[in-house]
Amino acid sequence: MGKQEDFVLRALEERDVRFVRLWFTDVLGFLKSVAVAPAELEGAFDEGIGFDGSAIEGFARVHEADMLARPDPATFQILPWRGEGPSTARMFCDIVMPDGSPSYADPRYVLKRTLSAAADKGFTFYTHPEIEFYLFKDTPNAGDDPVPVDRSGYFDHTAQSQGADFRREAIAMLESMGISVEFSHHEAGPGQQEIDLRYADALSTADNIMTFRTVIREVALNQGIWASFMPKPFTTHPGSGMHTHVSLFEGDQNAFFEAGAEYQLSRTGRQFIAGVLRHASEITCVTNQWVNSYKRLIGGGEAPSYISWGHNNRSAMIRVPMYKPNKGQSTRVELRTIDAACNPYLAFAVTLAAGMKGIEEDYQLPREAEDDVWSLNERERRSLGIQPLPKSLHDAIDIAENSELLAETLGEHVYDFFLRNKHAEWEEYRGQVSPFERDRMLPVL
Ligand code: GLU
Ligand code: MG
Ligand code: MG
Repeated sequence: MGKQEDFVLRALEERDVRFVRLWFTDVLGFLKSVAVAPAELEGAFDEGIGFDGSAIEGFARVHEADMLARPDPATFQILPWRGEGPSTARMFCDIVMPDGSPSYADPRYVLKRTLSAAADKGFTFYTHPEIEFYLFKDTPNAGDDPVPVDRSGYFDHTAQSQGADFRREAIAMLESMGISVEFSHHEAGPGQQEIDLRYADALSTADNIMTFRTVIREVALNQGIWASFMPKPFTTHPGSGMHTHVSLFEGDQNAFFEAGAEYQLSRTGRQFIAGVLRHASEITCVTNQWVNSYKRLIGGGEAPSYISWGHNNRSAMIRVPMYKPNKGQSTRVELRTIDAACNPYLAFAVTLAAGMKGIEEDYQLPREAEDDVWSLNERERRSLGIQPLPKSLHDAIDIAENSELLAETLGEHVYDFFLRNKHAEWEEYRGQVSPFERDRMLPVL
């Protein structure tokens, strides 16, 4: 038993923990949880806790259903929303097969494998997500329009607003679980909020995003409201994205930084951007995995719809933010496609893989988009070499089906499951007759 495991076993006694929730994530990004008694933990650290993998979305075929969840002691935290009295704690798990080898279906492992391939080249991947979501007055009811908790807009400061109270309670809870928050504010849509997590290595960030989504839901329920990370709940209001600032470090040096270079961006940084641009269409079905995700990427609302990069250009898919001289170590790029309803482990893995490809193959960075790419016409965009992002889940799957990068990064099992699942979602959606069609057609045809 290692030091960290010992620390957890001691903390269980000192904090009077009665339940330990073991958390892991299915392939579609939903959190799974099994509660174990503290007495079981020693065994869980050694061997893992068995479960039926075939009952988890994307995990296993029936004939190889037995899997084990092995808790990662570094992720031990007390759950603050369980109230007074004996406590409940949680740990994220790695999923292993009965022979102890990592499960090829575990999204956390997909990310770990990609991070370790980057580490072999000397790089650590850091991420900082800006997570947007809506707050609604009530639990959603099928067929009803959701009602936002307020009518405020971007950066609005309103006295006694539900949004501000909500953010205060949510942030206090996140901080008590060791998740640092850097900024928070009201976003542009009514009831829409944004909370930005502090920079951390990508594995911690992905774990933190899973915790974040749970905390946000819990706090909302406590306050009698509903939180949603749906990418585009309204036709006429902006969607909710998860812009992610990324950088690579070599040791304690930011590998994207070069003093005196344009935008302080090193050759490695330029190659990384070039990689993400070149493979953007292939990875979009992972970073934007739902039918609804593509309603957000339609242009406007500050969500990207074209594959381009720019400096301080909010219509671009990748933005190199304003930099501060003498702050080289904070050089980073902002990826604006990802939405908060993704599986963060898989989304970070495919993004890193695309960027690394750019570095390994020395891709050249195309010219930056200086204009608002939405205001150009098709011909102007074509002459600038600016391609559209996939326009629907269907387009995204089509492209993903021919992507070597995606197959390699996700591994055969996750890749096959993911594409089959997404294809089924598209087919089901395709058959739906929508209010749009009825409203347009019934009166006239
Ligand atoms: N809500 C916008 C999106 O869907 C982003 C707004 C912003 O720039 O923060 O991407
Ligand atoms: Mg925002
Ligand atoms: Mg942003």
